[in-house]
Parts: sequence; structure tokens; C-alpha cells
Amino acid sequence: MNTPETTGKALHRVFAERSKCCGYGLCAAICPEVYKLDADGLVYLESEFVPAGMEESASEGAVACPAEALRVEAPTGT
Ligand code: SF4
Repeated sequence: MNTPETTGKALHRVFAERSKCCGYGLCAAICPEVYKLDADGLVYLESEFVPAGMEESASEGAVACPAEALRVEAPTGT
């Protein structure tokens, strides 16, 4: 699995508040590697870490969310 423990590198973290998600699907359209949609069209995450190199598109997906349900956080202590 792609975690800081296995890569040795600090990764951005991503948070999703599913209770806020309205199922617009914009996040998954912009960054399908990070944002997945369940059978009801609501967002879920397969990992709390953003894969290396996907930081920008993960952030774009979070900003695009009309429900403000998503947040991407840079690693601290770098
Ligand atoms: S863009 Fe926001 S409201 Fe739309 S599916 Fe993603 S998290 Fe849910």
C-alpha cells in the first residue's frame, strides 16, 4: 500500500466529509485516482494519502467540490 511507511516519503493527506457530499461527482471527474464514487454517487477514499505526483489534481478536485466536503493537507515537518 502507498503509505509514508512504505515509501519513506511524506505524502499529502486527503479528507472527505461524506455527510456533506451531494454526489456531484466533480472531484472524481477531476482526480479519479483519489476520489471514488460509491453506488449512491457519494465520494469515498481508498486511502487517506494522496499518491505521489497527484497532489495538484487532488487539490483541484477538492477546490472544485461545491459542497466543500474535501480537504487536502500538505505534510508537516518537511
Ligand atoms: S465534488 Fe464534492 S459533492 Fe461532488 S462527489 Fe465530490 S465530494 Fe461529493
